[in-house]
Amino acid sequence: MSTSSILAQPKTIAVSSWREEGAKPFVQINQLTKNFGEFSAVNSVSLDIYKNELFCLLGGSGSGKSTLLRMLAGFEKPTSGQILIDGVDMANIQPWERPVNMMFQSYALFPHLTVEANVAFGLRREGLKSSDVKKRVVDMLDMVQMGHLAKRKPHMLSGGQRQRVALARSLVKRPKLLLLDEPLGALDKKLREETQFELINIQDELGVTFVVVTHDQEEAMTLATRIGVMDQGIIAQIAEPHQMYEYPNSRFVAEFIGNVNLFEGTVMGDERDSVTIHCPDSNSMIQANHGISCAPNQTVYVAIRPEKIRISREKPGTDINTSYGVISEVAYMGSQSIFKVRLTSGKEIRVTQPNFARDMGDRLTWEEAVYLSWDADSSVVLIS
Ligand code: ADP
Ligand code: MG
Repeated sequence: MSTSSILAQPKTIAVSSWREEGAKPFVQINQLTKNFGEFSAVNSVSLDIYKNELFCLLGGSGSGKSTLLRMLAGFEKPTSGQILIDGVDMANIQPWERPVNMMFQSYALFPHLTVEANVAFGLRREGLKSSDVKKRVVDMLDMVQMGHLAKRKPHMLSGGQRQRVALARSLVKRPKLLLLDEPLGALDKKLREETQFELINIQDELGVTFVVVTHDQEEAMTLATRIGVMDQGIIAQIAEPHQMYEYPNSRFVAEFIGNVNLFEGTVMGDERDSVTIHCPDSNSMIQANHGISCAPNQTVYVAIRPEKIRISREKPGTDINTSYGVISEVAYMGSQSIFKVRLTSGKEIRVTQPNFARDMGDRLTWEEAVYLSWDADSSVVLIS
């Protein structure tokens, strides 16, 4: 960790504080579509965002994230559908009349203006009293911890510092909704991680609702109260980060968020709380507790995260939820070890184990025959 105190540690990363009981959505997006010619960049998206949320739109390049954000800002006119912000239909509201500000990926600071003049620019144009402008700028620069560099010009700042000035500039007008398109894209990994926490702090302090676009799933997991995963113009799933990781609703989401092992199988029996699946790839029966309704003989997919699989030289006590193979790769990562295990079916399974002790005893190594096993609670059954 850096010893400088520029970047504060998060005071709170409260995931449950964003939504009050019975709260009305602050942003309501109803069946929103944007077509470019024949092509649907955003395809009938419906989504509610609540006050104080830090909502992340996550998806690969070209999935429609920026187009959705630009429609919220008013820079792009929807082909069909509706956007309400704070209960008001935005159809005929111009971008500058919306209670919204957008921070672009390229920060676009004015090169000839100082940091403070950059931040003050929008306020001055609003015709605020000079003393009020000054106070708001000072407060905002303090909040992003840039007060000491207020007299500098943008070219005398690092990428991270410029990013914070841009953030101050977009927040100083106190928008109710701040839209950020890949805000941390220009920062290196370590600075990115620190800035993510800072962003959470600022959002928490100001009570502004944030919608952040990112293609980085770790970033979304760190920042978001909720994540909406986008794929080819549609929202594949909306969930809190831990829900998204533990209960993905499709193979696409399971593979997009973190690592996962997928077994294709056939439903043998569907009981009240569990389903039994024959999986030729695992050479075993899989029993899963997570309940979705599925019919006998239906093809399903079982998703199991690498950290939820046990690996051992000894045969487990049961044949259900087990498999058998040979270690084909081992990677020691410091905090954890990654094993790839080739099953007799040829399928390769990824298993991770935390290195909870310095001396882990007789370590598993290449070419060893091992058993894999997991709990019925640990897998998710997917039908698409
Ligand atoms: P993302 O931000 O997720 O990378 P975008 O929303 O920028 O994706 O783009 C979604 C899709 O829409 C892409 O295939 C892109 O090429 C297309 N697109 C975006 N803007 C336009 C435009 N003005 N004209 C035609 N196609 C566009
Ligand atoms: Mg984009």
